[in-house]
Amino acid sequence: MTEATGIVGEFLTLKEGTDADLLAMQCGDFYEFFAEDAEIVADELDLKVSQKSSHGSSYPMAGVPVDDLTPYVSALVERGYRVAIADQHETENGHAREITRVVTPGTHLETGDESAQYLAAVVREASRDSGDTYGIAATDVTTGQFQVTQLDDADAGEALTELYTFGPAEILPGPELRNDDEFLDRLRERTDAALTLHDSASFEPGRASHTVREQFGSETVDSVGIGDQNVAVRAAGAVLSYVEDTGVGTLAAVTRLQAYGERDHVDLDATTQRNLELTETMQGDSSGSLFDTIDHTVTAAGGRLLQQWLQRPRRNRAELQRRQSCVAALSEAAMARERIRETLSDAYDLERLAARATSGSADARDLRAVQETLALLGQVADAVTETERLAESPLADALDGADREAADSLAAELDSALVADPPGTVRQGGLFKRGHDDDLDEIIDEHEAALEWLETLPDREKERTGITHLSVDRNKTDGYYIQVGKSETDAVPEKYQHIKTLKNSKRYTTPELDEKERDVLRLEERRHDMEYEHFQRLRARVAEHATLLQDVGRTLAELDAFASLAVHAVENDWARPAVVDGNELSIEAGRHPVVEQTTEFVPNDLYMDDDRQFLIVTGPNMSGKSTYMRQAALITLLAQVGSFVPARSATVGLVDGIFTRVGALDELAQGRSTFMVEMQELSNILHSATEESLVILDEVGRGTATFDGISIAWAATEYIVNSIQSKTLFATHYHELTALGEELPTVENVHVAVDGEPRSAGSDGDVTFLRTVRDGPTDRSYGVHVADLAGVPEPVVDRSQAVLDRLRDDKAIEIRGSEQNDGGTTQAVFDLDSGQFRDGAAQSGGAAAGSTAEPVATDGDPEHAPGEAAAEGPKGDERAASLDSETEAVLSELTELDVNETPPVELMAKVQEWQAELDDE
Ligand code: ADP
Ligand code: MG
Repeated sequence: MTEATGIVGEFLTLKEGTDADLLAMQCGDFYEFFAEDAEIVADELDLKVSQKSSHGSSYPMAGVPVDDLTPYVSALVERGYRVAIADQHETENGHAREITRVVTPGTHLETGDESAQYLAAVVREASRDSGDTYGIAATDVTTGQFQVTQLDDADAGEALTELYTFGPAEILPGPELRNDDEFLDRLRERTDAALTLHDSASFEPGRASHTVREQFGSETVDSVGIGDQNVAVRAAGAVLSYVEDTGVGTLAAVTRLQAYGERDHVDLDATTQRNLELTETMQGDSSGSLFDTIDHTVTAAGGRLLQQWLQRPRRNRAELQRRQSCVAALSEAAMARERIRETLSDAYDLERLAARATSGSADARDLRAVQETLALLGQVADAVTETERLAESPLADALDGADREAADSLAAELDSALVADPPGTVRQGGLFKRGHDDDLDEIIDEHEAALEWLETLPDREKERTGITHLSVDRNKTDGYYIQVGKSETDAVPEKYQHIKTLKNSKRYTTPELDEKERDVLRLEERRHDMEYEHFQRLRARVAEHATLLQDVGRTLAELDAFASLAVHAVENDWARPAVVDGNELSIEAGRHPVVEQTTEFVPNDLYMDDDRQFLIVTGPNMSGKSTYMRQAALITLLAQVGSFVPARSATVGLVDGIFTRVGALDELAQGRSTFMVEMQELSNILHSATEESLVILDEVGRGTATFDGISIAWAATEYIVNSIQSKTLFATHYHELTALGEELPTVENVHVAVDGEPRSAGSDGDVTFLRTVRDGPTDRSYGVHVADLAGVPEPVVDRSQAVLDRLRDDKAIEIRGSEQNDGGTTQAVFDLDSGQFRDGAAQSGGAAAGSTAEPVATDGDPEHAPGEAAAEGPKGDERAASLDSETEAVLSELTELDVNETPPVELMAKVQEWQAELDDE
């Protein structure tokens, strides 16, 4: 068949011209996939493959009916494919087909998912002096949101964090990032986004700037301050051009350019978001996350907003107080709150409806949903004004954010146009009420009259003919007909013309019926066309109001989010925290917001300020150290969301960032060594945290040998205390670190108290702990203590203690303070053996020195450290005398080997080699 050749050929040509993964090409009433595409689609979607022959070869073919395309495409896109759609249209000489739309993960309008769906672009430029500048733009085509930011002098980590926070479905890397494998790898580690190489030209500054100004207007671009942010503009331009190219048709709904800077938000890196389990648990479940726990929103948009708040806590005190006041008012006005939530639960997703109206995919039911939701604004506004507690709160202002008059008038317009319960298809009439348009009314009247005539025809005919089994119906082949039961066919009047005989009946028509049929068909077609035209006009009216819809949608979403926070606060007895400037963090009877849901939680206090900047948290395993620290981080975070917090009372000094290093179990799965990851994260914290940050370190150093670990933990503590000065909580099982708490002025020890007489939890003999946090360090040998409590035999416990003492033998560490604070570098020297301080530069020498054996090394006098000398062992020449030449050789190789420069595998090989050499003797 030559026609077949044509179709497959055309398919392959179109496919060549697109970089989409799959092509669906319209062929009459079907969309067809051919060749390889057919096989992929059939596999993914369980479609049947048939064969299409062309040029003597045969091609696999799979198709879906035109009306069913959307769900199939959605399913493919959700599996990560980019699907091009070629529509067919009539031309003078037959059909022509062209690609009208490419549906991609980031431009997928018919998503079944309520959460935000971001398409992001990221670009990088090397800046003159130091570091790089990253520009990121992200849009959600389903809601018209558009956000841009520029990160100056940033390392890739900050850009990756931004992208992680958006969780985009699709990312367009700029031309300069496409070959940066390291960046791309790290990107893939953090997101599941599809990476798409969009036309490089659209990233060019001139072109991008033009695109952005066209979209938002030059004034807007300048007023939000991205006009001179070249890098941000490049990302924004690329995103807009991609949305345009894919043909999703929602650009008109993208009306608001939101530019945000680094100073607006609390810095939360990807690790911290994961560690604090903000939106999903470490295991990757959304249930059990902070969001899942506190989310009581009743609308999809409200849920999206609340989630966004959690991921982007704020630093602006006025904004936080505004939010708190709204939550406070709603938590007190219980009746009004429930009335508002009840009302909101009828709301549809206005932001998404705006995008559907703009893209031309909204049907009459969607416009009805718009109308019904717009009408809710008035209802909730009434609930606010009628309730004194709410009326005097900032909620009243929040509601003014949306133009109520415009909303009412659009709602009224839609209400007077559309019938109450319109059909799901827009091409078959029945959409409009009478009175919408005179000409339309006339056609509707005529049409209905004709239908009425047909409807009453059976009764008239029965009466006239006396036939009882008579009906009038319609089908595709016969048109309208009169059907008479077999037993009564003898009685039919003469003018009945027989058209068909069935088993139990005969069908007839009459000249009159034929004429009415022609009328009805003509009127029907006319009516459908007219209604469709009017509908398109009405939909365009709604699209013109996209901004209004978004405003109202966001106002309702905000109200929903506030009400949700209020519900959670009331139900869980949370308190409104004081948000203040400065470094205070005080929490009275604080709880962990997620753990308190499932456990009888033992509340704890926390106090930190300038003089108590760094807390070392000690206590046995499973005593609650990690929980206590996360609780501090989550309470700070919630306070900076504007929420109430799980505590009797709290004062939270606003932070610029929260950094955590908690647990390591999940990282093993990624094939990176736990310790490497631990150190990378520590490194990131030490680079990024400032004196306004909150840092949570949980068991840092645990991933390596004990003394290695202590050393790193020790040095990191000194560095944070002396150089960074962030508010820090450090849980450690290295009891040695508590020495720092006793010596450095801003470092304090707290411990989770272990009950002397352990309470037995039930009959299984589990040891339970008190979990109360108190000042001071924990019992130094709690590990052994726990072994004892758990009933390990006495000889083992005793021996453990002895071994521990031996291990700590003869070790001493000096403690460093900062120059300006302490007038000297060395603060004290801690003897790990005795658990006592020896001498130190800043210590008042005499008494302390007298109580211990000898003075040990300080910074000022490193050469003559007696400890070191002792550790060196026998002097060189003595050693030479007692060693054979092989051993000498091994030793000298060992001395020369640069451990840091030698790959671990080589190191192992070396060690084996040496062992073999030494064995030979
Ligand atoms: P650690 O870090 O000291 O090993 P965790 O913080 O992991 O201990 O806590 C151990 C267990 O105790 C967890 O199951 C946690 O839910 C529970 N827990 C911790 N703190 C409390 C508390 N204050 N009240 C009740 N249960 C707690
Ligand atoms: Mg822990």
